[in-house]
Amino acid sequence: MLIDKLWELQELQLDYRRKERLLEESDLSSLLSHKIDETEQQLAALRAQLETFKADEVKIGEKLDDLSAKVHEAGAKLGKEEMSEDKVQKLEEKMKKLTLEKEKVEDAQGKNFHDRQDVEDQSRASELLVEKLRKELESIPQTTATSRAAVKKSLPALRKEIDNRKAKLPLKAKLIFESLSEKFSGAPIARAASSTCDYCHVRLSQKTLFSLRNAESGGDAEELIRCEICGKILYAGTKDRE
Ligand SMILES: [Zn+2]
Repeated sequence: MLIDKLWELQELQLDYRRKERLLEESDLSSLLSHKIDETEQQLAALRAQLETFKADEVKIGEKLDDLSAKVHEAGAKLGKEEMSEDKVQKLEEKMKKLTLEKEKVEDAQGKNFHDRQDVEDQSRASELLVEKLRKELESIPQTTATSRAAVKKSLPALRKEIDNRKAKLPLKAKLIFESLSEKFSGAPIARAASSTCDYCHVRLSQKTLFSLRNAESGGDAEELIRCEICGKILYAGTKDRE
């Protein structure tokens, strides 16, 4: 019967789609692996940068302590000792210089702090990205290179088989099959099981059920019985027809 041929054709068509999808997924999975490696390298570079910032922070801190002590020392001298105007002037100049230097170092400390925060934000973002990519990768079924190659190799023959079978169909049936295939992602036929369309799960009308049971064997598109709700071609299966 025509419907049996169409059903087989749908099986082949779905098999082709599954295989195509598998190949797409394996492409995606190698893309993801690559992206993960790249992001991890970036992360390592960012972490190294962070270590440098931390070391710099310690050095800057020490320098500031040193300068503060010197300013303090000079200030104490100025307050205590009896000294010539010349010496006072010199000491004041020295203090001024030290204070300026201290301000510079404080600026450097602020800059270091902000830059470090930037890098910390960046590495947090990279960590999250790696985590997200890993989850995505885990959700993709992994295939070996060998099975991938076998699938790829089998596709042209499968395509040819599908095209040959389609070419042998009556034109009208072929057109209906193709337009419904497009509409329903390659699955234009639904099984009619327990008086229900197994695609839209709606109970079939008595008229449709009657037609399904009494379908005559032949090759006309007119005999194709469609679900009144979703419009798919109905397939009762050999067993249900007996
Ligand atoms: Zn339906």
